[in-house]
Amino acid sequence: MTGKSSRFPLTLSSVVTTKTRGSTDSGRTATPQTATRNAAQQGMRPGTSVTQAAVNALRPTSKPTSGPLTAATPAPPRSLVTSRSSSLPVTQVSSATAPSRSNSMVSEAVRKAMVARVARQGVKDAKVLAAMEAVPRHLFMEPGLSSQAYIDASLPIGHHQTISQPYIVARMIEILRETGGGKELDKVLEIGTGCGYQAAVLSQVAKEVYSIERIRPLHELAKTNLRPLRIANLRLQYGDGMLGLPQAAPFDGIILAAAGMEVPQTLLEQLTIGGRLIAPVGGRHQVLQLIRRISKFEWTNETMEECHFVPLRPGIV
Ligand code: SAH
Repeated sequence: MTGKSSRFPLTLSSVVTTKTRGSTDSGRTATPQTATRNAAQQGMRPGTSVTQAAVNALRPTSKPTSGPLTAATPAPPRSLVTSRSSSLPVTQVSSATAPSRSNSMVSEAVRKAMVARVARQGVKDAKVLAAMEAVPRHLFMEPGLSSQAYIDASLPIGHHQTISQPYIVARMIEILRETGGGKELDKVLEIGTGCGYQAAVLSQVAKEVYSIERIRPLHELAKTNLRPLRIANLRLQYGDGMLGLPQAAPFDGIILAAAGMEVPQTLLEQLTIGGRLIAPVGGRHQVLQLIRRISKFEWTNETMEECHFVPLRPGIV
């Protein structure tokens, strides 16, 4: 909790170095899709290297690599670079020639291409785009899928859940920011940590981030994925996000990464006055809803765009 302004003693970008330029992806559109469908469409190729991924990505598609934190646990101090290399297929790709550095460069190039695509899809907020560029998405996937990490799709993370597609992650955060009157996000709550990717992106644009997950193995996975990144302003919680996080409320932003038929009233009551909540709402047909709290007893509701998320479920498992 803290909100050290220097939230990243080690910036995420210090993990994956370089500047490669290159972004010529095809701009696939952000359409609702399930992980299963994505997998089929993308023709999952387990084991594809990040390098190969980069090649594809820099053309029409892309790909990358993998890894998971728990309740309010301060990240253990470890070198980002070190831990990363160990969890990254990237590092193992080419040992002789230009090992980790060039692989890092490749994954950074692929990520830049992903960000360029997200921008073409309409996300304009430079701070959000920079956050997307800073977080190594491939580290949040299992190695067999890491090569797919930068394609515009949700992908399976186990337990019938998915990592959200890059566009929707960026768009939801952009909406939270742009509706905040230009003020920096202070305290944000995410419901549905999953593998921890969106929480990491959020941590770049908010002073304090809390994220709740109801499936324990995913909560653990997120801890493992996030630990090497040493993000000081992010706290993970295992629990039912439908109950919010009263001990840390109120929040000036709440993001739901799973769709309910309606937004739980408890969450609305954990918003500050002026706070915003963005959530997918619906069953087979879902829309993103933006809810603003305008007084103690009043909220406004605006429908933004169509989306497709896994369901919001009560309780813990
Ligand atoms: N934020 C993730 C997306 C995870 S998918 C990302 O960065 O890609 C949505 C997650 O919401 C799933 O892991 C699911 O288990 C979780 N979820 C669903 N209902 C929940 C609830 N009531 N409380 C907490 N998490 C919930």
